[in-house]
Amino acid sequence: MSAEPANLEILFAEAVHDRLVSAIRSRFPRKCFGYLLSERSPTAVTDFILFEENVRNEPKSRRQFESYGRYFVEHHDAGFVASPKETWRVQKEIWARGLSEVGVLHSHRRHPANFSGIDYELHMERFENLWHLIVSMRNPLLPQLRAFSVSRRGVRELGVRLVRSTAVADLEGASLA
Ligand SMILES: [Zn+2]
Repeated sequence: MSAEPANLEILFAEAVHDRLVSAIRSRFPRKCFGYLLSERSPTAVTDFILFEENVRNEPKSRRQFESYGRYFVEHHDAGFVASPKETWRVQKEIWARGLSEVGVLHSHRRHPANFSGIDYELHMERFENLWHLIVSMRNPLLPQLRAFSVSRRGVRELGVRLVRSTAVADLEGASLA
């Protein structure tokens, strides 16, 4: 699947968006992270998957994060890491659903939905071929979603458009034509 979205807009099935927001809200104040999934088009989201477990503060990854600098020593919730076991389980589930990961997502608990320098560094290390969705839960009643295309050339904000689920399938088809 192509890394660089050809257009500047992410199409989000409304029902998937609502499910995602309520899943993140129900876990709040836990930080959430996962993948946005699609049947075909890298810019049309038809599903998502969240990781259950964040091993960021287990000794090995904690040491690694703290080696990045003071910010990570002081902010234990900066960054997220899935265990190899769960990564494999999630990968198998994505395949079983017949989908591909097209974007990464993580929630911010206190910060707005900006893509920070820290987010950029962590993204480039691990997710070079995906775009990134930030969901800010600063106001849990009104989550803010912003999507970004991230590459060595820099960060570019992508539009997020909610569409009816059936419309996503239509648009996916159209984008292949
Ligand atoms: Zn972040």
